Amino acid sequence: MELLDGKKASLAIKEELKLEIAQLSAEGKKIPHLAAILVGNHPASETYVAAKVKACEEAGVKSTLIRMEAETSSLKLQNTINSLNNDPDIDGILVQLPLPRHINESEIIYSIDPDKDVDGFHPVNIGKMVLGDETFFPATPYGILLLLEHFKIQTKGKHAVIIGRSNIVGRPLSILLSRNKQPGNCTVTLCHSYTENLKEICLQADILVAALGKPEFVTADMVKEGAVVIDVGITRIEDASKKSGFRLKGDVHFDSVAPRCSWITPVPGGVGPMTIAALLKNTFTSCMQKN
Ligand code: NAD
Repeated sequence: MELLDGKKASLAIKEELKLEIAQLSAEGKKIPHLAAILVGNHPASETYVAAKVKACEEAGVKSTLIRMEAETSSLKLQNTINSLNNDPDIDGILVQLPLPRHINESEIIYSIDPDKDVDGFHPVNIGKMVLGDETFFPATPYGILLLLEHFKIQTKGKHAVIIGRSNIVGRPLSILLSRNKQPGNCTVTLCHSYTENLKEICLQADILVAALGKPEFVTADMVKEGAVVIDVGITRIEDASKKSGFRLKGDVHFDSVAPRCSWITPVPGGVGPMTIAALLKNTFTSCMQKN
């Protein structure tokens, strides 16, 4: 078994970006600039945004963090997004989800300029992705593609089984893995909460992706010998022995599943850092379209 080490792969991507951005700077060209909006102070969101800002610094991407109160109105948030849409220095706009309940997330995502939608959630970008055009892919599925690419995992002709059909992970990943490109060309089965015979389907997977948000759901008896297993799940489990008061668990029971796999992602340190690397790549691409 070998580790699909997301920390290592994301570091390589950040180093590569850093060199390219230094080159842009040396040539007097515009460097990438990401604006992140955090509404409220949800602890997990705080952590994710802080990690994104730190990754920007590491890669030489300029970042601006805009904090807004949890009670902020939808209109005020949209006005902030509008001014970022109109700011020529901003290449990427990220609105950290989830938003407070009184704000309609779709409306907010739709108000982001698709050319600055580096999270890849805008319907224009989703539509382009479905049609096979180059565009901003949603950060987590794109991060998974980058991870497969980094470790030279062969996907052509393989059966990929994805558990979870959310708009941000499972569904877009099913589209990307089935496209006629590398990584891609998989036969994809997309499973969800109404899937019957889930275990039997998982046992057919050459590539098994768990993205359902149920800690340690995938056990050894669901995994084919030699499979590539990608664990997207992140659940905080209370743990008084940790300084933070919690530890992170994935959707895969790592200790029992790992010995059966050819490759497996750890949690943390697998898909998480790759999601951030994908966001940086999208921001860089957006900037290059202006340079
Ligand atoms: P979600 O709750 O929106 O969707 C979960 C999906 O799993 C649903 O489509 C549902 O049908 C399916 N599902 C639930 N129970 C199931 C079952 N018993 N059998 C089969 N399918 C089942 O979740 P999400 O936003 O896609 O997130 C999934 C997990 O991935 C969460 O733990 C989340 O924290 C994590 N996540 C991680 C990253 C990262 O960067 N690593 C990014 C996004 C989400």
